[in-house]
Amino acid sequence: MQLLENYIREKGTVLEGNVLKVDSFLNHQIDPELMDKMGEAFAERFREAGITKIVTIESSGIAPAVFAGLKLGVPVIFARKKKSVTLTDNLYTSTVYSYTKKESNEIAVSKAFLEADDRLLLIDDFLANGQAIIGLLEIAEMSGAEVVGIGIVIEKSFQQGRTLVEKTGVPIYSLARIASLSDKGIEFVRED
Ligand code: 5GP
Repeated sequence: MQLLENYIREKGTVLEGNVLKVDSFLNHQIDPELMDKMGEAFAERFREAGITKIVTIESSGIAPAVFAGLKLGVPVIFARKKKSVTLTDNLYTSTVYSYTKKESNEIAVSKAFLEADDRLLLIDDFLANGQAIIGLLEIAEMSGAEVVGIGIVIEKSFQQGRTLVEKTGVPIYSLARIASLSDKGIEFVRED
């Protein structure tokens, strides 16, 4: 998605450890117009897939997921990272190692919101080593729901996430695919 690539080039900064900082439009401040267009792009790609729900992870997946949910007319569920007092049992859980925080978090979704006949679209802000998406796939499997698509805002194609997740056979649609990150610049994967 050209607009997103422009945002990344103009506003993104590269941190140590191949981490891209995009706090000014995705991870801290949110650009609603960009979110709207990204939601439309996800919806367009998966409109014929019979999606019944979108599942993401708090917090940075929520904004793109909600805009996609709005366009597809389906609810959005976000996996919570810490158990809150209102989320005590009847949970599907999985443990996810965070690439940026270098720590493991348990993620949880209430059993009340996933049905065995659901057709899910998973959305996240980044695909790096694939751990977050694998955690969501595990939760989906526990519920019996089928994952029919994965939507990623920024894929770091030089890390192992895509290869790992592609093994599941679920189609992955990334709005921007980064081939390399360095202090000299950001290169995108060219698909044509
Ligand atoms: P994975 O589980 O695929 O290794 O990493 C995905 C998660 O790590 C995303 O949900 C995102 O929060 C975080 N992440 C991974 N790489 C980056 C990065 O380069 N920049 C930012 N801002 N977050 C990242």
